[in-house]
Amino acid sequence: MDYRKKLIAEPNARIKLKDFDPAWHGGHENKKDAAREMARHLERITTVQRLLYGEKRHAVLIVLQGIDAAGKDGVCWHVMQAMNPQGVSVIGFKQPTTTEKEHDFLWRVHPHVPGFGRIAVFNRSHYEDVLVVRVHDLAPKAVWSKRYDQINDFERLLVDNGVVILKFFLWISPEEQLKRFAERLDDPMRQWKISDSDYAERAKWDEYVDAYEAMLEKCSTSHAPWYVIPSNHKWFRNLAVSQILAETLENLHMKLPEPTVDLAKIRADYHAASADPAAPDKAPPPKGA
Ligand code: AMP
Ligand code: MG
Repeated sequence: MDYRKKLIAEPNARIKLKDFDPAWHGGHENKKDAAREMARHLERITTVQRLLYGEKRHAVLIVLQGIDAAGKDGVCWHVMQAMNPQGVSVIGFKQPTTTEKEHDFLWRVHPHVPGFGRIAVFNRSHYEDVLVVRVHDLAPKAVWSKRYDQINDFERLLVDNGVVILKFFLWISPEEQLKRFAERLDDPMRQWKISDSDYAERAKWDEYVDAYEAMLEKCSTSHAPWYVIPSNHKWFRNLAVSQILAETLENLHMKLPEPTVDLAKIRADYHAASADPAAPDKAPPPKGA
């Protein structure tokens, strides 16, 4: 199944998140059942990233949003592991600094947009400025309500300049979130992630849902679509993101540049067994020399 078609937030459509089942898992029984497909997508991603890096005609921007514990860090870990780290950056957007607050909301984002050949993952993004900012009244409505168009214009600019944009909204149920918070309490490797604000934010679930729906409705465009990823099952979340990423990048039909040298001549000059000029130098020096 092509999850791009199934999971896209249709541009210009009304979005109600209650119509999206966060526990959907594409017909796979369990993680084991999905493992082989997952491995195949990771291999595809490895290949397309090598093409992207060599061809250097596109850049790829992956945006991750989702409520606390939805799995943004998990996607960074499990999907990006297929890539050569040399060509990838992951940028986490936190509360803006004083300097960042003195500028427009896109000012801190733009320098992290990847250049040709590279992939950048935004773990949270410019969308926080229509999410947490809207839910917590951190800016007047007159300010944040203009940002949807500003974001669309910004993303259009990037797309017109060779950036492929993929946006993944990781969607979990409130019950699943509470379960994950409880697991964190018992996991010494995750306890550091817990904050009081997790529980305070949870109380604003409905306000967040309104903000997410507006984001999906206004900013899922044909050039920079949002995908709603059912994320109650971590293994399905990773599978769906991997497949959509692999599919989208394969569709670019990238080609590596032709070699700039005469391969046949280089083979003959340096690699023909009978005439290997490097061979004498490689021999160990004579004893006593
Ligand atoms: P975490 O992703 O758990 O490390 O938390 C980062 C925090 O920064 C979250 O609570 C975000 O809501 C917050 N944050 C990110 N961007 C903004 C923003 N533009 N304005 C206010 N808070 C933000
Ligand atoms: Mg957090």
